[in-house]
Amino acid sequence: MEILSDATAMTRWSRARRAEGLALGFVPTMGFLHAGHTSLMDIAGNRADRLVVSIYVNPLQFGPGEDLARYPRDLEGDLARCRAHGVSAVFLPESLYEPGFCTTVAVAGPSRGLCGATRPGHFDGVATVVARLFGLVQPRVAVFGEKDWQQLAVVRRMVRDLAMEVEIVGGPLIRDADGLALSSRNRYLAPADRARALSLSRALFAMQASGIVEAKALCALGRGLLDVDALDYLEVVCAESLTPLEVLDRPARALVAARVGGTRLIDNAPLEPVS
Ligand code: AMP
Repeated sequence: MEILSDATAMTRWSRARRAEGLALGFVPTMGFLHAGHTSLMDIAGNRADRLVVSIYVNPLQFGPGEDLARYPRDLEGDLARCRAHGVSAVFLPESLYEPGFCTTVAVAGPSRGLCGATRPGHFDGVATVVARLFGLVQPRVAVFGEKDWQQLAVVRRMVRDLAMEVEIVGGPLIRDADGLALSSRNRYLAPADRARALSLSRALFAMQASGIVEAKALCALGRGLLDVDALDYLEVVCAESLTPLEVLDRPARALVAARVGGTRLIDNAPLEPVS
């Protein structure tokens, strides 16, 4: 497994593999890897000849007062997980933005609302780093987790709009046995907060199982089950466009973001349309 620590090394490695006729699979991450990340590696590895994982805590996607400075890190553990999942190259840049970097990729549509409203500028940061990473890695296929449903929609839109030659694949959301969506940020949760964090998935599962078709009533049910310190949003939206729905008349998704003991958590689940 190669460790590539700057953009030049990444570009050189990628160019050489592609010159050999090899298709690259790519999973971008911010590290502190868990089973959610490795599930994406397995998907990408099965769809490509060589697998590249990037580990980079992207400052552009953090707002003021967010957890950029204390984002959890575990380089040794991350590299061991990458090795165990057949990664050929880990891209581990110290910085991705050379002096003078001044381009922002802003995707409107799916960036509006939800996390786009509660974390202004977040998806500009995501789109910009993903566009730059795609330029450096030049993957044939890139895999993103459905855990970040809105991010996946933003990346799909960007790739379509900018005619980027990469296939975007969504990987299923991986949960702990008790239902908590795996996240690097779960590391921040004290035991009592972790128990309360379970109310996010519990609320989503109750909404799923309720048979209710009106979004307002679904959200009221979910809100009643949440045990959080602050709710950023709980919404029912069209699964594809992310626009709010009144009734489940097409494939829908319930999305939630909330703070538990100072940690911001997100989760989402599909809702079946009325048949
Ligand atoms: P992050 O390191 O949080 O930026 O996440 C890197 C990638 O892993 C993103 O595509 C996430 O959506 C994905 N991911 C994070 N947690 C999970 C999870 N529990 N299940 C599936 N994918 C995940």
